[in-house]
Amino acid sequence: MVIKEAKFVTSNTRADLCPQTQLPEYAFIGRSNVGKSSLINMLTNHLKLAKTSSFPGKTQLINHFLINGEWYLVDLPGYGWAKVSKDSREQWRKMVQFYLKNRTNLACVFVLVDSRLPPQKTDLEFIELLGTMGVPFVLIFTKTDKQSGTKTDANIAVFMKTLQETWEELPMYMKSSSTSKEGREEILNFIASVNQR
Ligand code: GDP
Repeated sequence: MVIKEAKFVTSNTRADLCPQTQLPEYAFIGRSNVGKSSLINMLTNHLKLAKTSSFPGKTQLINHFLINGEWYLVDLPGYGWAKVSKDSREQWRKMVQFYLKNRTNLACVFVLVDSRLPPQKTDLEFIELLGTMGVPFVLIFTKTDKQSGTKTDANIAVFMKTLQETWEELPMYMKSSSTSKEGREEILNFIASVNQR
């Protein structure tokens, strides 16, 4: 897919205030610092479409970007901040859960996972939530340029093995690097193929 146009549309805290649309949308989410903003900017060829995570304390927002006038890319607020109050975490959970439940045009959630780390509890919990809610998702293992391909694959294997304990059918996954642009074609082609269904 060629990205001809990527434009910011709205920032909201509530799913019911997000754009009223029939167009499909694809949400990106992950732990803070996983490389979400970098990946969104890499996919859309924009240096600064998505802003690097602002520490919560500031309002966390659901950001909608319209791509080629055909589909929405959604930047969801990240999770797993080290120093966050129980209240903020609860607020995040409510906002994201409400979004996942009510966005009927949500085609897929991309869950970003740092390819360098062993399975993190917050990632596993979020994936579990998606499973419970029946939301379609794909995993993206980020920052692959930071280590050898062998190490990345070994870490992914450990992650999948952990998922196997609770999932009968393992989710689809892709690898990405915002530096080398690994994954760009695969992610965009996947979106194009779902859009055509
Ligand atoms: P976010 O908090 O998930 O939005 O993460 P950011 O996109 O702001 O990235 C966090 C940090 O990781 C920044 O310093 C980025 O420059 C760096 N980073 C993000 N993606 C990559 C990547 O694919 N490769 C490398 N080498 N660094 C990355």
